[in-house]
Amino acid sequence: MKFGKSIGSQQEGHADLHYVEYKLLKKKIKDVVGRLQASELAEALTANTVFEEELAAEIGRVNQCFSQNQHDLLDRTAQLAEELHQRKGCSDEGGGVAFSRADAMRQLVDILQEVDQLRKYAVWNAVAVVKILKKRRKQTSFGIEDTAAERAGWLSRQGFFSGSDFAELHASVESLGHMLVLSEILPEDAGYEHAAYRSQSNQEPQQCPICLDTISDMVELSCKHRFCWKCFVLGPIAFQPGEYRITQCPICRRETQLEESDEAAAGSLHSWQPASMSCRVACLVSNYVSSSAPLPS
Ligand SMILES: [Zn+2]
Ligand SMILES: [Zn+2]
Repeated sequence: MKFGKSIGSQQEGHADLHYVEYKLLKKKIKDVVGRLQASELAEALTANTVFEEELAAEIGRVNQCFSQNQHDLLDRTAQLAEELHQRKGCSDEGGGVAFSRADAMRQLVDILQEVDQLRKYAVWNAVAVVKILKKRRKQTSFGIEDTAAERAGWLSRQGFFSGSDFAELHASVESLGHMLVLSEILPEDAGYEHAAYRSQSNQEPQQCPICLDTISDMVELSCKHRFCWKCFVLGPIAFQPGEYRITQCPICRRETQLEESDEAAAGSLHSWQPASMSCRVACLVSNYVSSSAPLPS
């Protein structure tokens, strides 16, 4: 399927989000091409400016939509954490408490799913920007010569592409997950002294082999090598011409497959599912929740 059509069907499936209007931008490039073919250079330059303005406006819309969704998710996570905190204060040990934990777990799963959706949204739009710039270069030879600098110029300062907002989201969702699980396995006030929690929080901070910084928003491959999500998923979009994903682990060269993701295994960019939701839920749930706990349905 052509990219314009693919991203169009993403848009149809998610009416609440704004995806880059790829077809519109293609039309703007066509205007430039028409002027160039007619040897109207001044008009071609003007048309090119129109294209760039339109692209900037589209990126602005994506950013706005992204940041609104990111804030909503942070708010919902904080709200849920607050509710859990308040319930912990109650001495009520009846069935009502167990139910509300299951309910909170379901809400957490909803949030995780939406964070995952937002990651895909960021990837789709970043790829759209890279592809439309490539198209312009090919058809008009406008744009700056250094393709990597060009991509970076358009993308690097955008919120949806920085990765730090996802790291923030992930950290707050993860801490909510811990809290929820602690309340599940430790109904009494043993609280933070629990061994599982201690071992978790005492883990050495790990270094990302790509940015050499402490890993934030971790992706773990099936070979167990770990990276930041931004380095592993967003990095290739900006720096790997033609390819938009890393197909081999940069450390051991094994094929990269995020576990339990059929789509990622299919190897196509468009269904590339970074740090799959199922993996994250599985990590959260299976690491901490005892087998008797009510699992989210
Ligand atoms: Zn990194
Ligand atoms: Zn590896």
